[in-house]
Amino acid sequence: MSADQFTSWSRRGFATASAASCLALLGDRAFAHRPASQLGSDRLVLLGTRGGPAITGYRPTPSSNLIVYKGVPYVIDAGYGASLKLIEAGIPLRALRYIFITHHHSDHNLDLGPMLYNAWASGLTGPVDVFGPKGLDALLRAYWESNIFDIETRIADEGRPDLRRLVIAHEFGEGLVFARGDVKVTSLRVFHPPVTESYALRFELGSKVVVFSGDTAYFPPLATFAKNADYLVHEVVYPAALGTLLSNRPNVDRARLKASILSHHTTPENVGRIAAKAGAKAVVLNHFVPADDKALPPETWERGVRSTYAGKIIVGQDLMTLPL
Ligand SMILES: [Zn+2]
Ligand SMILES: [Zn+2]
Repeated sequence: MSADQFTSWSRRGFATASAASCLALLGDRAFAHRPASQLGSDRLVLLGTRGGPAITGYRPTPSSNLIVYKGVPYVIDAGYGASLKLIEAGIPLRALRYIFITHHHSDHNLDLGPMLYNAWASGLTGPVDVFGPKGLDALLRAYWESNIFDIETRIADEGRPDLRRLVIAHEFGEGLVFARGDVKVTSLRVFHPPVTESYALRFELGSKVVVFSGDTAYFPPLATFAKNADYLVHEVVYPAALGTLLSNRPNVDRARLKASILSHHTTPENVGRIAAKAGAKAVVLNHFVPADDKALPPETWERGVRSTYAGKIIVGQDLMTLPL
């Protein structure tokens, strides 16, 4: 971590303790290795590819992704349904180790507490480090509080370890988030009004690079951040199809929701522009808005990206697995 990054964090109001606690991560305890797992080959798995929090079925579910690298699972976002999708992807929940949240919209964190809880219920023994923007600590504390009866009953009655002590929350700003061995994770604050703390994440895993845009409007600095990515996992919106989505939301001000969606998501053409400028080897579309409109087959999404990007285009879907 450079001095500049520390300065940058301080400027943004992060307590020194926050940066210090991230450095403390480099110590042995937080990164104690689990035995080599049977989690399979190095890969990227799209667990949930729905953009937005509405639930209409098991596929697609809200945003969540998984990287398995050298037998260690890294979960990126935890939208509703992520716990079950992890199991379907071959990851026993007690194998959880690192979780990263890009921002605190519920389609990215609603399953965070339940995922940790389910892991505990399924035999979790070691620490889980959770990284997220400001608000993460409060989110977890409130979740523990809402389940205090069950947690404390099971500790006393079943002899379980205290879940609240197994989970270590790390709030991050822009810059270095995580470094251990040949894995490094950095963050870039993207443009997602009205959410001010929304981040893209860049995972460097040995010689491989995977970048997650998180939720963002067209944001040219992301191209630099995603330079030479093997996979640029980018969110996407199809504005012409928003009418159907809006007609299915009777409890919102539709004009406001439409304006909100358009203010903080990226069209296929602009995803292609970012991917092209980044020199990404492949762009992986995820976080589709709308997500399950039958009038939008994969070719429709691909066509827009193709108009601005000549590389490989992968139209994501839940549980799609890509080799690393
Ligand atoms: Zn979202
Ligand atoms: Zn969002």
